[in-house]
Amino acid sequence: MRKKKKASDIYHKTEYVFKDKLSFSEEFTSIEEISIEILTGLGDQRKIRKYSKSNYPGEYYDCPNPLCYGGGFSLGDIIREMVSNGTTHIDDTRRCIGHEGVSTRVDRECIEGFRVIFEIKYAISK
Ligand SMILES: [Zn+2]
Repeated sequence: MRKKKKASDIYHKTEYVFKDKLSFSEEFTSIEEISIEILTGLGDQRKIRKYSKSNYPGEYYDCPNPLCYGGGFSLGDIIREMVSNGTTHIDDTRRCIGHEGVSTRVDRECIEGFRVIFEIKYAISK
């Protein structure tokens, strides 16, 4: 089966085409360090992914559900909101924005959810 397109495949080609050319440090100049933990799946399928500045996965985190089209959620939106509020820690959940089926046919909404734990250390402003 051909791999389904995920959020990063779709959105990278549209509104984020320019933004993606910026590296994490270029976009988020006020962040000195970031720790991102993303928990997906349930029970035996539970997985934790950990990221920092050096391995930032990009604007979108892709949904691991193989049936899901356009799935994932925006990491960039969470970080931008944290930066604008000066938030240093969040422990929250996000729903997948994709659906099962193909691009135009929706069989059902994707049930995948993500627990997101973000820690930001801001650079001392000059
Ligand atoms: Zn999904």
